[in-house]
Amino acid sequence: MAKSTLKCSFCGKNRDEVKILIAGHEGHICEECVDHALEIVQQEVTSKQENKSAYKLSVKKPVELKQHLDEYVIGQDEAKKILAVAVYNHYKRLNQVNTGAKGKKETDKDEIEIEKSNVIMVGETGTGKTLLAKTIAKLLNVPFAIVDATVFTEAGYVGEDVESILTRLLQVCNYDIDAAEKGIVYIDEIDKIARKSDNPSITRDVSGEGVQQGLLKLLEGTEVLVPPQGGRKHPDQKLIKVNTQNILFICGGAFDGVDKIIARRVNTNAIGFNVNKDQQDAMKINLLRFINAQDLKSFGLIPELLGRLPVVTYLNPLDKETLRAILSVPKNALLKQYKKLFEIEGIELKIEDAVLDFMVEKAMEYKLGARGLRSICESILTDAMFELPSSNVKEFTLTETYARQKFEHARMNLLKVA
Ligand code: ADP
Repeated sequence: MAKSTLKCSFCGKNRDEVKILIAGHEGHICEECVDHALEIVQQEVTSKQENKSAYKLSVKKPVELKQHLDEYVIGQDEAKKILAVAVYNHYKRLNQVNTGAKGKKETDKDEIEIEKSNVIMVGETGTGKTLLAKTIAKLLNVPFAIVDATVFTEAGYVGEDVESILTRLLQVCNYDIDAAEKGIVYIDEIDKIARKSDNPSITRDVSGEGVQQGLLKLLEGTEVLVPPQGGRKHPDQKLIKVNTQNILFICGGAFDGVDKIIARRVNTNAIGFNVNKDQQDAMKINLLRFINAQDLKSFGLIPELLGRLPVVTYLNPLDKETLRAILSVPKNALLKQYKKLFEIEGIELKIEDAVLDFMVEKAMEYKLGARGLRSICESILTDAMFELPSSNVKEFTLTETYARQKFEHARMNLLKVA
């Protein structure tokens, strides 16, 4: 009988030179080649996963960070500077954690641990708090989620668990846990979960102090079990483990009335000093400038929470010039967006200077801040955006008369609805 001619179709070894020879459709493979193939597959998969993560951290120096913020956010220099430094330090800390993990034992003695620099921003609504957080997250190329503190309640009550904050973060990065663990979370309306009064009430403060307590563990950095779909946890749900140690939390709130608390403190401190009328007036313009953790505690945030939000900054109320600049200066300014919309239709939109003044005047009148500018623009331009695409018009000039007329008309409609 002829000697067996079976051999591995990959390495060519004969049947008697290998331990196992697996038969395929039209060939064979030996155990050595199987091992080798497995190695290649594993390498491929890991390198694909590494490339897959769209989130490659790009760390910029504070000055560069601020310059970038300047392109999108008007004014608010103080907040920009503080945010830039906090974010830069946070990522320096991240690098320290990464490199520290390798040679931990030897370096333990001289290693100074940099603490997390979560930020709290205080400023009227519509002054750019969310915009600042969003812009910086985009620049750093990290996952970014915005959550509203008012939807959370203490565990056991109706509402969402605080852990669902992390669900949002996981969702924006397609459940890439590594990326989420380096992300930024903006918690809006943090002032709304302030303790209602300093006296502990007989009834439970469901939405206030309990939620603040719940936030503590997220903010300080621990492993948290997160429900992948958010909402409330239930026993059969599979939970994802997320470490919040390297997640940067930025909180924002209007803290209505905190200026009175600051004024009281500043005035008390000023007793014995000669503060003249002019200086007092200057102080009143934006008392938020003097804000500190003590004021936020008097407002109703618990000291433990404030301890985990070591960086406090403020945003200025928007004055006329700032509102005007917001309309046309930032990279994606409102009016640039409208011009683009018309341009896509092949129409050149020209806007008279006086229209900008009119828009600003109305935004100030309705106390809508920058957020109101958009609805004002919409009410003025909707008719044009409705009619012009079906016409042969190639150029449209927005005059003050036209703007006034459309705005009044839109307002009349609103009144009719009300
Ligand atoms: P906040 O979070 O303080 O309530 P936002 O950041 O959401 O306010 O601002 C609302 C909108 O107003 C933003 O989308 C942005 O278009 C505009 N805006 C507010 N402040 C500024 C600013 N300082 N520079 C540029 N745009 C601003």
